[in-house]
Amino acid sequence: MTDVRVRFAPSPTGYLHVGGARTALYNWLHAQRHGGTFVLRVEDTDAARNTTESTDAILASLSWLGLRWDEGPYLQSEARAEHVAVAQRLVDEGRAYYCDCARAEIEERVRDPHATRYDGHCRDRGLAPGTGRVVRFRVPDGRTVVRDLLRGEPAFDHAGIDDFVVLRSDGTPVFVLANAVDDARMRISHVIRGEEHLPTTPKYILLCEAMGAPVPTFAHLPVLVNEKRQKLSKRRDHVAVEYYREQGFLPDALVNYLALLGWSPRDDREILSRDELVAAFDVGSVNLSAAFFDEAKLRHFNGVYIRERAPDRFLDDARPWVDDAARARGWTIDDAVLERVAPLAQTRVALLSEVPDLVEPFFVDDVVVDGAAVEEVLLRPPYARSVLTAALSDYADCDWVAERIKDCTHELGARHDLNLRKTQAPIRVAVTGRKVGLPLFETLEVLGRDRALARITAALERYLSHDEDVTPRATGAR
Ligand code: GLU
Repeated sequence: MTDVRVRFAPSPTGYLHVGGARTALYNWLHAQRHGGTFVLRVEDTDAARNTTESTDAILASLSWLGLRWDEGPYLQSEARAEHVAVAQRLVDEGRAYYCDCARAEIEERVRDPHATRYDGHCRDRGLAPGTGRVVRFRVPDGRTVVRDLLRGEPAFDHAGIDDFVVLRSDGTPVFVLANAVDDARMRISHVIRGEEHLPTTPKYILLCEAMGAPVPTFAHLPVLVNEKRQKLSKRRDHVAVEYYREQGFLPDALVNYLALLGWSPRDDREILSRDELVAAFDVGSVNLSAAFFDEAKLRHFNGVYIRERAPDRFLDDARPWVDDAARARGWTIDDAVLERVAPLAQTRVALLSEVPDLVEPFFVDDVVVDGAAVEEVLLRPPYARSVLTAALSDYADCDWVAERIKDCTHELGARHDLNLRKTQAPIRVAVTGRKVGLPLFETLEVLGRDRALARITAALERYLSHDEDVTPRATGAR
C-alpha cells in the first residue's frame, strides 16, 4: 500500500446517483492505480434528511458495481465528539470564537439586502459558551489557493469569506467542519469529489491549516448533464444506479461507461475491462466540461458486454429475469430448453430485461398473436396462407435441425417466388406470436416439430380460416 488514501463520502439522502457512482469509481480507480486505500465514509450528520435505508441502498449499489472499499463504512455521526472537540480546541487557541449575534441583528448592522455576510462583531468580545451561541471560525486576512489536479490553482480571497459558523447554537458541527476533520483523521491524501463542493473548499483548507493537518490534493469533477445539457435531475432523468440494475444493465458495462464520463484513455478504446481501466486511469486528465450521460450509448455498451459474456455466465445473469417472468406469467421453465435458447437471446438483447419476451414462446402452451401482427403479416400479404399451408407439408418431412429447416423454408419460398425474409415472416408470427424474435430456424428446432406444426395449424384456423383450401395436417396448438 502506498500513502494514497482516497474516500467516497456519500450523504445518505436516497439512493446512489450515477454522478455519485462516477465519483466513487474515480476514487476507486485512483486507489487501485496507485496501490492506495479506498475508504467509504457515510456522511450521515443531517438527521432530518439521512436514513439508514438510504445508507443500505447506497452500499448495495456500490457492491453491485463491484467498487469494494478497503476501509469502512465509517459513519460520520459516530465521530461527532471529535468534531466538537476540534471546534473547542480552535476556540481555545483563539482561531475560533463564540458569537451570540441574532440573524436580525447582523442584517441590521450589515444592511445589505443580498448579504449573508457576518461583520465580525463578536471576534474580540471573548464570549464564553452559552445558550444560543454559535462558534465561528476566525478567517485570517489573505487568500487560499486550492491545489486541484483538474483546475490548476484557483485562488480565493478571504475578503469574500465570512467568519463562518463551525458549531451551531445547538452544539452540532456544520458539514465543512465534520468533512475536514474526518479527512484529516483518516489521512486522506486526495479528495476527488463533485465540483459543487469547490466553493466551500477554501473553508475546508482554512480548517486543515488551523488544525495543523496536511491539506489534501483535490480533484473537483465536472457535473453530468442530459442531452439538453441540463444538469441531471431526478425528476427528469434516470439518475439512480438502482434503476439501471433493475433495467438489466450489467455492472461491468455501467462501470466502463461511467469511467468515460469526463475521462478517456489516450488511445481511442472505449470498451475497457476493469483491469484496463485501472491501468490507464489518470484523474489528472479528467476533462473539465460537463459530461453527457447518454443512456443510448450506455445501452450500446451493455449490448457489447452481454455478447462478450461466456454463455453460462449469461445464463446466470439472465436467469433471475426469466424466473421473475415465469412467476408473473405462469410459465414452467424447462431448463434444458432455456440452456439452448439463452445463447440465441444473448445475440439479440441489449438489456437482460429483454430476455423474457424473447424466450416466452418456448414456455407457453399457446401463442397469441396481437391484432396488428395478424393484420400486417398474416392477412395483408396475399401469400401468407399459402406459405403456412406449404410449411405444414414441407416441415412434416424435413430433417428437424436448423440448417435443414432453413433449406426447406428457402425451397418453399422459391416455389412461391418469395425471398427468405418474406417467407419467414408468417411462419415466425404463427409459431412465436411476434414479428421479431430469436433466429427462426433455431427457434423451430428447439420448439420441436410437433409444437411448430401445431402452432402453424392453429394460426391458419384462427386467423385465416375464411380461406377455403386450408388443410391443416396437425392439430392441437401446443
Ligand atoms: N457528503 C458529500 C456529498 O454527498 C460529499 C462531500 C465530499 O466528498 O467531500 O455531497
